[in-house]
Amino acid sequence: MKLQLSLFLVFAFYASSAQYKYGLTPTTYNQYQENIRKNPEMELIDLEKAIPGLLLDIRYATTNNFTGEVIYNLAKAYARKPVAEAIAKVQSDLKKKGLELKIHDGYRPYSATVKFYEVYSDTTFVASPYQGSRHNRGCAIDLTVIDSKTKTELNMPTPYDSFQEEAFPTYPLKDKEAARNRAMLIAAMEKRGFKVYDSEWWHFDFVGWEKFDVMNIDFEELMK
Ligand SMILES: [Zn+2]
Repeated sequence: MKLQLSLFLVFAFYASSAQYKYGLTPTTYNQYQENIRKNPEMELIDLEKAIPGLLLDIRYATTNNFTGEVIYNLAKAYARKPVAEAIAKVQSDLKKKGLELKIHDGYRPYSATVKFYEVYSDTTFVASPYQGSRHNRGCAIDLTVIDSKTKTELNMPTPYDSFQEEAFPTYPLKDKEAARNRAMLIAAMEKRGFKVYDSEWWHFDFVGWEKFDVMNIDFEELMK
């Protein structure tokens, strides 16, 4: 009985610490609550609430992603307050041209970053769990552009989450229309304080992301 109990405790310890084996201690919900009391800029904002009508296509809440597994229980997109405000500005800039954003991912709990790395360990395309992802800080956004009327995606260099060279934002494209659309998206995002990621045309980091901590908070907790 005693042995069983200690075996159980050892197992429980490993199960709970499995996602912290890369030397990071991400912020939990209680710490986050404390942080946003001190600094309201740290708050994770629900993008659908902040930007009415914003279209989401959260692939990690489906099996249609590179892991083939459902990673998120809820199809939600959150970002830190200043990041959400900047995305709202991009949306209104694009709307003037008859275009809109479609969001594939925003804030991502640290446990998901660990899972991605354990499925696919090439850090060109997935974040290293030793540093965590800028998505874990609520400062990165994956997105594309759609036509406001038809809701169809603009022609872009690759599909979302394509692990190919063509996904690099500097890749010389033969398809001139895709090159123009990519350049338009990058310019629209840069204007509002984002920088495109070196190997993914759809991933943008908010400038100043270093000031925000890595978090491991589920969407369910954020919706409390
Ligand atoms: Zn991303």
